Amino acid sequence: MKNVNIIIAIVILSFSITFCKKTNSSTAVTPVDTVIPVVPTPEKDITNSSAVDYYGPLKVAGNRITGKADSAVQLRGMSFFWSQWMGKYYNTNVVKWLKDDWYCNVVRAAMAVEEGGYLTNPDMEKQKVLDVVDAAIANGVYVIIDWHDHHASDHLQQSAKFFVEMAKKYGDKPNVIYEPFNEPLQVSWKSIVKPYDQTIIDSIRKYDPDNLIICGTPTWSQDVDIAATDTLVGSNIAYTLHFYSGTHKQSLRDKAKAALDKGIALLVTEYGTTDATGNGVVNQDETSLWYKFLDTNKISWCNWSIADKNESSAALYAGTPEMGNWANNQLTTSGYFVRQEMKSKNLRFK
Ligand code: MG
Repeated sequence: MKNVNIIIAIVILSFSITFCKKTNSSTAVTPVDTVIPVVPTPEKDITNSSAVDYYGPLKVAGNRITGKADSAVQLRGMSFFWSQWMGKYYNTNVVKWLKDDWYCNVVRAAMAVEEGGYLTNPDMEKQKVLDVVDAAIANGVYVIIDWHDHHASDHLQQSAKFFVEMAKKYGDKPNVIYEPFNEPLQVSWKSIVKPYDQTIIDSIRKYDPDNLIICGTPTWSQDVDIAATDTLVGSNIAYTLHFYSGTHKQSLRDKAKAALDKGIALLVTEYGTTDATGNGVVNQDETSLWYKFLDTNKISWCNWSIADKNESSAALYAGTPEMGNWANNQLTTSGYFVRQEMKSKNLRFK
């Protein structure tokens, strides 16, 4: 009888294990809702150098951004989300994770200005930027200090004060790139955006003669062709181009090409794989066309965004930990797709 009982117990146990496995697999988190190809090994691992050591101080040469070897440098990385809403990811662990696991060589601190941002809480929002900049310096990656504002020309005094402070603090660090005007609205380049950009350039240049300044252009930083006909004065000045693949396609690439042909350098400080709303379908085909264009023209980019907001441009699913160390099934379709692009094309640094 004993043996029979043991056999029955084993049968029941086996059935339970089988059943439980099925139950677990049916309730498990789906990794990503897209086909996941194998990530190719990068061409070269640079294990004895950081990205900033390797490329050096950036400068503008014609319509390209170049490093210490005077050859064009193309950076690929991630933008953080509005600091007042996603400040939880503005920390050194995330910057290090983005470098180590995503092969990011640039990050963008998107310091909110309105809607509870810097104008309301200057010290708190600035501290988030400092945390990311210090982490970027410690990890040898480039960092864009973004005045994330649609009405920056209405906040000229505050912006100039902020950028002077940043230039005094970080002007000797080759990591730092300034972005004084995220996305101007549909306003005049000549009478509104350009005078603002020039004032901030001149303010920064009193304390930092050389770090890159990437200037916003009208129509949510799409009118680079207009800026190219009436350029800013100064050295190491480039212009911001923003796109969202579901909305902005060949006609915007044509505008960008026209700007390049007129001789200005561009940097995509922000783009999304989705509609311009930040939501909608992740358009991998159109984003791939953009990647081809950006690679051909050696244009650096940051993807929008490191956030766990429930919208398709966010790279992380809701509740993804604040300290990095993310599993693949915590990355959204967009997050996984963009990370794969970086892992397959960026060099891996120490
Ligand atoms: Mg400098």
